Amino acid sequence: MDGMQMVNMLYMMHREQTVSRDCEWHCELEMNDKILEGIKGIISSNEAFEKFVMDAYRKYKEDFSDNALGSVDVSPKFWVQNFCLHMCNSNGKITNGCCSKDDCPINSLYRICHSMLNTK
Ligand SMILES: [Zn+2]
Repeated sequence: MDGMQMVNMLYMMHREQTVSRDCEWHCELEMNDKILEGIKGIISSNEAFEKFVMDAYRKYKEDFSDNALGSVDVSPKFWVQNFCLHMCNSNGKITNGCCSKDDCPINSLYRICHSMLNTK
């Protein structure tokens, strides 16, 4: 199995845990009206959503350039979708099927999305 196949498998595992009913890890971020409006804006069209995903992922690659290739890189889109879903439906308690570490790459991407919306 080559490196990218390993990363893909890891992604599938993290993703499965993240959407499972008993996901045990979460990233808790503050929900507010500004973020709600921001999320409404980015989910209003495919274009707006794709652009937000690209911007968030670009920032992630800049800020965490030392991170090894991982689940975030396989599909930043999935993680941003999960962020939007839980900000709106779980009041900012976002599932993370990887771990609860502060420096978990998935949590890092969640926080980038959060700060992009919070500063708009
Ligand atoms: Zn993790």
